[in-house]
Amino acid sequence: MAGNEALRIRDVKTILTAPDGINLVVVKVETNEPGLYGLGCATFTQRYLAVAAAIDEYLRPFLIGKDPSRIEDIWQTAMVSSYWRNGPVLNNAISGIDMALWDIKGKVAGMPVYDLLGGKCREAAAVYRHADGATLQQLEENVIRYREQGYQYIRCQWGGYGGKQQAMHTPEGAAAGAYYDADAYARSVPAMFEHIRSKVGFDVELLHDIHERVAPIEAVRLAKQLEPYRLFFLEDPLAPEDLEWFRMIRQQSSTPIAMGELFVHPQEWVPLIQNRLIDFIRCHISAIGGLTPARKLAVLCEAFGVRTAWHGPGDVSPVGHAANLHLDLSSLNFGVQEWYGPSELIRVVFPGTPEVRGGFAYLNGKPGLGVELDEKLAAKYPAVNKLPAWTLARRPDGTSARP
Ligand code: MG
Repeated sequence: MAGNEALRIRDVKTILTAPDGINLVVVKVETNEPGLYGLGCATFTQRYLAVAAAIDEYLRPFLIGKDPSRIEDIWQTAMVSSYWRNGPVLNNAISGIDMALWDIKGKVAGMPVYDLLGGKCREAAAVYRHADGATLQQLEENVIRYREQGYQYIRCQWGGYGGKQQAMHTPEGAAAGAYYDADAYARSVPAMFEHIRSKVGFDVELLHDIHERVAPIEAVRLAKQLEPYRLFFLEDPLAPEDLEWFRMIRQQSSTPIAMGELFVHPQEWVPLIQNRLIDFIRCHISAIGGLTPARKLAVLCEAFGVRTAWHGPGDVSPVGHAANLHLDLSSLNFGVQEWYGPSELIRVVFPGTPEVRGGFAYLNGKPGLGVELDEKLAAKYPAVNKLPAWTLARRPDGTSARP
């Protein structure tokens, strides 16, 4: 900063990159102090160009000249600056800015973001990995492999979501798509856990993701049927459109429920938490607007005995994974962290990507979020605009379905 000049946002850049073939959106907020900038994750991989336009065309001019230390004020004013709000594109755009501002604040303070949030409650975050398999034997081998690597939490999925399209009884002329059979899938889940528990016992936490693939009443039945297998949680049993059904699941089973990766609006999560209808909140932090709303959500959950399990797939950049972990380390009510296993290439493009050892994810303790981006290298792996085929889901009779 020159002389006594106040700290200001000098520029905002959107960086689109896909080192692992997954389109990532990273935001760089630059200040008038040479070398002082922040990075944030704004990844909405299926609509990354729309997020980039929201940042470049609307938020960049809105932010230039503002004081980057005023995170709360910037978040609130940016959120209402479009009047219409709480959609995934604009939330992701604001998240990229918001995380970058927390990164800057940490760098100015000389502290990791978890220290700004109250300090560590734990040294590292327990993570869960995804074990799957076309056969139960394959799945069992993958579960055992993860256990041997020190993972204490393992998500089990068997054979996709049921059935092969060529074996389905589809009508003539049925449209192309990613077909699945919800009934075959629902019947397979209790059988899968019967097998896995009989092989590995109960000394490991097992999880499962329904991915909102079944009818609501089937989700009620599954939650009941899975009780004997003592899941750590059952994820996304219902779609955000069917939230009223959570009460029925709760009334009929004690299987712990995790929900929220598709949430974008506070009124989706507040009633579930307030009425104690879920056990874990697992929002995609960039899809709800960044660290600022996520830390408030974590505190709200703490008051109601709900734990956190933030969404952590491959379509979150390492900057976003670090943001998850800063909250994990500083939240009393942290539950578990989803971990996708970044490639070596991702680690080179994003120096400082968190590391996992013995089933725990560690941050590097550097000021801010602690993750950097090699922009020149990132440019060698450009994002590609292609239709994600898995989102074109259909039921066996050809009807469009939720992916
Ligand atoms: Mg999920």
